[in-house]
Amino acid sequence: CTQLCKAFADYYSIDHKLVTAGNGSDELISLIITAFLMKGEKVVTVKPDFSMYQFYASLSEAQCVVVEKEEDLSISVDQLITTCIKESAKMVIFSNPCNPTSLGLHADEVRRLIRCVNALVVLDEAYMDFWDQSLLGEVEQYDNLIILRTSSKAVGGAAIRLGFAVSNPMITKALRAVKSPYNVNTFTQQAGIRLFSHKEELQDACRQLISAREELYQGILKLEKQFPNRLHMYPTCTNFVFLKMEQAREAFDFFLEQGVAIRFMGLYLRITVGSPAENREALRLLRDFFNR
Ligand SMILES: *Cc1c(COP(=O)(O)O)cnc(C)c1O
Repeated sequence: CTQLCKAFADYYSIDHKLVTAGNGSDELISLIITAFLMKGEKVVTVKPDFSMYQFYASLSEAQCVVVEKEEDLSISVDQLITTCIKESAKMVIFSNPCNPTSLGLHADEVRRLIRCVNALVVLDEAYMDFWDQSLLGEVEQYDNLIILRTSSKAVGGAAIRLGFAVSNPMITKALRAVKSPYNVNTFTQQAGIRLFSHKEELQDACRQLISAREELYQGILKLEKQFPNRLHMYPTCTNFVFLKMEQAREAFDFFLEQGVAIRFMGLYLRITVGSPAENREALRLLRDFFNR
């Protein structure tokens, strides 16, 4: 995947020798957990977060130590550090910005975590194209950091199955040694090379999406004020908004009846930013729901 890793590295202005390509970042998560954790060893995860970390950890019979997020769904780095040390964890893995909460942890806080733990930090930056707190440019400064990126989100290539791990040369060598030899097929490599060569267009699409997100966010903020205590929206660093609603289930059903699928997660709803017209439709449905 040399040409592909170069295209990815050029896009993010990093050294291609630090990049390993995978069959989606899912493959890389699975590979990293399999390669670096023995049965029974501990990996620290946070909750709520991307569900696949626990899934792959359980397949490896690694032990998950779950740190609950704060009331406002932020991550307490102090608590994460304490837990890693107390549990002698070998790994800590989380998404930043977070899927599903849409919240981000500032780079300084992530750096503090990496420096303070005696564990491999797997930092899943699947949504970092929508925020500006990436550590991609500094992986070589750490002996315990792997950053994951994916072409499934901001660059819109979920179906080609392509993800990347970025780490220092030593960890990169280890990852390349344990991955299966032809894990990314030729078609995906070619598609990825083409995709990442369109830097201007991709960055432009990203900017458009962020401005559409602001419209959706401001619209929902208005509804939050107009209908007190009916919903709470979290600040967003991603391409979706995350809402807490007593009537999440009812709202989800209401949307679905009108042909709009959003994500229902217990007391929460996740609404992905669409085109400006789709966002207006989502706002209209939410308003109708509260007005019923
Ligand atoms: C979507 C997503 C992934 C999976 O990406 P693939 O490259 O499609 O496997 C990984 N992590 C997070 C946080 C995601 O939201």
